[in-house]
Amino acid sequence: MEKITCDVVVMGSGLAGLRAAIEAARTGRGKISVAVVTKTQPMRSHSVSAEGGTAAVLYPEEGDSLESHMWDTVKGSDFLSDQDVVERFVKLAPQEIIQLEHWGMPWARRKDGKIAQRSFGGQSYPRACYAEDKVGFYEMSTLYDTCLKFDEIMFYDEWFVTKILKNKGRFAGVVAMSLKNSELAVFNAKAGILATGGAGRIYSFATFGHSSTPDGYAVALRAGVPLRDMEFVQFHPTGLVPSGILITEAARGEGGILRNKNGERFMEKYAPKAKDLAPRDIVSRSMITEMREGRGFKTEEGEDYLLLDLTAIDPEVIKKRLTSIREICLRNAGIDPINEPIPVRPVAHYYMGGVDANIDGATELPGLWAAGEVACTSMNGANRLGSNSTTECLVWGRITGEMAARFAMSNQAVEPAKSDIEEEEKRIYDKLLGPAPRANPYNIKKEIQTLMERHFHIYREAGSMEEGLRMLRVLRQQAELGVEDKSRYYNTNLMNVLEIDGMFDVCEVIGVAALHRQESRGAHARVDYPKRDDENWLHHILVYKTADGLEFAYKPVVVTKYKPAERTY
Ligand SMILES: Cc1cc2nc3c(=O)[nH]c(=O)nc-3n(C[C@H](O)[C@H](O)[C@H](O)COP(=O)(O)OP(=O)(O)OC[C@H]3O[C@@H](n4cnc5c(N)ncnc54)[C@H](O)[C@@H]3O)c2cc1C
Repeated sequence: MEKITCDVVVMGSGLAGLRAAIEAARTGRGKISVAVVTKTQPMRSHSVSAEGGTAAVLYPEEGDSLESHMWDTVKGSDFLSDQDVVERFVKLAPQEIIQLEHWGMPWARRKDGKIAQRSFGGQSYPRACYAEDKVGFYEMSTLYDTCLKFDEIMFYDEWFVTKILKNKGRFAGVVAMSLKNSELAVFNAKAGILATGGAGRIYSFATFGHSSTPDGYAVALRAGVPLRDMEFVQFHPTGLVPSGILITEAARGEGGILRNKNGERFMEKYAPKAKDLAPRDIVSRSMITEMREGRGFKTEEGEDYLLLDLTAIDPEVIKKRLTSIREICLRNAGIDPINEPIPVRPVAHYYMGGVDANIDGATELPGLWAAGEVACTSMNGANRLGSNSTTECLVWGRITGEMAARFAMSNQAVEPAKSDIEEEEKRIYDKLLGPAPRANPYNIKKEIQTLMERHFHIYREAGSMEEGLRMLRVLRQQAELGVEDKSRYYNTNLMNVLEIDGMFDVCEVIGVAALHRQESRGAHARVDYPKRDDENWLHHILVYKTADGLEFAYKPVVVTKYKPAERTY
């Protein structure tokens, strides 16, 4: 097997991965090599599709404050975020907006020439910086261009990370497979940064692209690194029906209104003050209630939906600031939102949980950091606020990039254990590429997604979750994953099977964590435990994969300034 040696290996080339690579290269300028290993090309990462904005406090003199951003985030998280982490986040956020501007980011402008900001759900001040409604595309272009200026950074596009290697209790690199020819290689690195994005398409109705799968969570879990707070899955209120394409919250930030079958602005009932701009968990639950109580619409196929009405917004604002939303509606639904309301319903969109990481993004495995959506530093707690995630990727990309580079410059590399490499070779070439599959992997994938939609959606209940877990385990036992196509060149069939294998691991963790948390908090709504229970559940749930199965551990929530209080909007 080929061995590629580098100082820092960054897994993933979304916002977090690219920002981390730049900071590692800057920190070790002229002395360091950084390999970015990524299964797509960088500009195909999910970050490119971020639409609405990136939150930061820019104008304290005009009334916004770090204190207010911190409070909004903690309250939005239903008091499960670690407040020291949030404090660090809000302090570093403005620096990242300016840094991006210096690298060439074309932020939208106010009339006075300063960076413009717009409203987002749960943010009590308009603090989302934007660029039309394509913020992710412009941020990614800016970061990718900047990466290319550093000789220290090497890109390995279309390489799929399959395993994290360790030895003597330290990170030793990764095994990755070139998608071009299915060759495996060892990236022997002193430090690693996991930036593989969210768990993505484990639900069928989701805003993610099909390449967003939970590979990163699975490789960490298998390497003995725990996952934290995986029960918290965010459902965004407005997925376009029937495709699930995201209609950004900025559409409501610009004045869009949700309506039911009777034309009522129903959010007035559930969140009298914030209305349509209440946090996502609250809006999504309210929408499900409206549909369940018969005030929704049905498509010809029987799918429920409600309406997002933008018709009162000035058409020029829609054309200029919601450009791609209009395009998406015209192309995918034959609707012009200037004249007609948009059919929407809640859609799987973001994972608050992730690879357990401390305030510096460091994992339990020395030498391995995690950043971006795959990481859980507990910044988002039980519910993330819109426009905080792109900022989080930038902030922890920067932090982990610097930390990993410093670590690499002051530590020797460790050789990965030979037996680990051989084991991985066997798993991929003998097991997956070996005997023909008994079941069609695409049917299995569909079954997993359907099962997650049915048993681990917005409202959850013990009996249904137990049944979901049982079905998931039976499916895994019977599945016998394997690949029909034995070719070595661009074998996407093999890649998909590797992804599905990771989906099984991660869905099971979501399932056991959701069943374990006997309360309702943020995005986790238990019909059988409808109240938040701070006495028993004000802590994080960690799940380890061990030889004996999955094991739980706990971490307290860090409360510095704000005692948990009732959450009203
Ligand atoms: C449609 C949409 C709109 C959004 N809009 C906003 C918004 O307006 N504001 C906001 O703050 N947030 C928004 N979000 C959330 C935010 O965009 C994401 O949380 C964030 O971009 C994630 O970035 P990331 O760098 O962690 O991962 P991603 O951008 O998901 O990148 C993951 C990377 O990892 C690579 N990878 C994955 N698995 C492997 C593997 N096995 N081997 C090698 N590489 C691998 C992929 O190729 C990719 O490069 C939106 C999300 C979606 C889905």
